[in-house]
Amino acid sequence: MKRLRWLNCILLIFFLCSVDFFYAQSLPKGRYHGNRERVIDINHYKVNLNFDFNKRKVQGEATVVFSPLEKIDSFPLDAYRLEIKEVNLIENGANKPLKFTLNEETVEIYLGRICLPKETLTVTILYSAQPNAGMYFSEDNANKGQFIIYTYGAGEMKANWLPIYTGYNDKFSSEMIVSVPSPYTAISNGKLVDVQRQKNGEQTFHWKQDLPHSQYLIALFIGEFEKGELEPAFGTIPVGYWVPKGRLEEGAYVFRNTTKMVEFFSRRFNFKYPWSKYDQIAIPDYGPGAMENTSITGLRTSVLRNEQAPENFGSPNFYGYYSVWTAENLISHELSHNGFGNNITCLNINYLWLNESFATYCHLLWDEESLGKETFDFDRQEALDQYLDYVKENHIIRPLEYAYYDTVSDMYTSQLTYLKGAIVLHMLRNILGDEEFFHALSYFLHKHEFANVVSSDFKIAIEEAVGKNLDWFFDDWVYGGGYPIFEVAYTFLKNRKLIDLSVSQIQPIIKGQDLFTLPIEITIVTSKGEKKETIWVKNKSDQFLLHCDEEPLMVSFDGSGALVSEVHFDKSLDELIYQVFNDEIPGRIRAMRALARRLPVHQKTVQTFSDILAKEYFWGLKAEVAFLLGKLGTPEAERVLLQALKLPDYRIRKAAVLALRNFRKDFAKKTLRNIILEDKHTDVVGTAIVSLA
Ligand SMILES: [Zn+2]
Repeated sequence: MKRLRWLNCILLIFFLCSVDFFYAQSLPKGRYHGNRERVIDINHYKVNLNFDFNKRKVQGEATVVFSPLEKIDSFPLDAYRLEIKEVNLIENGANKPLKFTLNEETVEIYLGRICLPKETLTVTILYSAQPNAGMYFSEDNANKGQFIIYTYGAGEMKANWLPIYTGYNDKFSSEMIVSVPSPYTAISNGKLVDVQRQKNGEQTFHWKQDLPHSQYLIALFIGEFEKGELEPAFGTIPVGYWVPKGRLEEGAYVFRNTTKMVEFFSRRFNFKYPWSKYDQIAIPDYGPGAMENTSITGLRTSVLRNEQAPENFGSPNFYGYYSVWTAENLISHELSHNGFGNNITCLNINYLWLNESFATYCHLLWDEESLGKETFDFDRQEALDQYLDYVKENHIIRPLEYAYYDTVSDMYTSQLTYLKGAIVLHMLRNILGDEEFFHALSYFLHKHEFANVVSSDFKIAIEEAVGKNLDWFFDDWVYGGGYPIFEVAYTFLKNRKLIDLSVSQIQPIIKGQDLFTLPIEITIVTSKGEKKETIWVKNKSDQFLLHCDEEPLMVSFDGSGALVSEVHFDKSLDELIYQVFNDEIPGRIRAMRALARRLPVHQKTVQTFSDILAKEYFWGLKAEVAFLLGKLGTPEAERVLLQALKLPDYRIRKAAVLALRNFRKDFAKKTLRNIILEDKHTDVVGTAIVSLA
């Protein structure tokens, strides 16, 4: 009795702990952000700039053409630490000086009379700035006095060097006239209208962006660059790249597919690339890593590479063998923003997913187009893994649309906005079907051309384009957070020729995460063939009777990995092995992982992994198997691992190196030393060195 009471206590503590673990998940807390109000609508913004490089100062004259949105006699512009010398109203060709007051973060400009909503007014502002953010003066350490100036403007950073309205909810054309000493070039958005040599030897570059965009997409780059040209897109839209001197060859390699990408996205969404050119520029230490400034994407020089370099962009990854952020991914991601982000723009950061989830899905679509369906499936699995890991580690379930955050960067969390949003869009594609999904996206792009959007605009666009009411989907996946955890089981009822399939949703039901409604594809395979059925789940537990003539070889739940979910589905060893060889790629990965978790390790598991390494044609599955060998860690697995280390694709060898961290120390050390001496790929050797340390 006493022992039993103790056992009950332990069970109760365990239960409370697990409840606590689940309930620790929550919506992030933060300050509420509503949409920003404004009193003017800017039509055009022009700025003339001159620089004092050594003092890191900029002098400017901004010309703002605007209409009041209500009766006003004054209006504010954002201005962080700007020194404003003079403000004039241009009326009938004459300058009329205006009064202004400088507040902490704004300048209030007094128009001297009541102005009405239909009027078009032009104001000029003479100012100087010594920006400590938004515009960066980067001096070459090896060559003092040589500068690169670049700007970066997500959020409200532009007000550090321009007197401007920094909300995303105003779009206008822009113009930049920049004077720089020789041999510098100034590069900005839109078309280069003119270059003039001044008497003092400086050159003045005049760039004009005719179509309206939000201020955060205005950009300026100054430095000594070389320019490479690619084939124009559709034979007419210039496509080029700017790189620091001496790096044209690496630029030519890494940017080689850009024209094809411009044409692909235009075709895929039946929405032609709208801007006058597409250039990319590589800048050392470019703060944001990459930024989709309209028609002139900025990227860090680490994107430049030759064919032998690892594909991963950014710092070397010694802890994973796969990335959805290769240099190519980054290039297609930023380019696709010229549709989703620069053409249609989130109204404010609460709706950031309309920029970032879409661009992330676009870069996966480019993988689907250029590398094939297997890579696309693998990308989606990687995105799902990263998202689920993030929620488990951080216990945060933020909806895609969300208004509570303390800093803008909270909304940029890659796993919650970029990756989750991309696979949510794929789920929507799966629900609507390819034709309807891409038609709806095309309709959305055209309907809101050069405008701001919120999530409900997307929902309404789908309803208008393909007639579907998706309230339920948006409630669960855009306004709601989290994801379903499915517990799945089945029995075959031989006499009734039925599969009795039960599906339970076991995720905690908490604020921000409810039960989910979803269609799910079930694949049933028998010796006579394969059939697919779609079931709809919506309750805590749902039960389905599916016709099946004989004992199934495999029952696969969402084998194509269309869902953003976690699936627990206990199966026999033989069914898992069948699934490893016969399901779609996400289902195969799930079966491989289930096999690797089974203890004690069965000889058939090792043989299955060995067969995949020997016979599978897709490198990704071989790499996953190599990685999972680390979970087995048996002497037989060691033998198979050595087989993986002989394969030609370096990513498989890298996965095997990562797996070695879980093997016997003496075996791992000896093998890693051999790899360091013998392997030809820097990524494999680097990972081996880190593993050995
Ligand atoms: Zn992006």
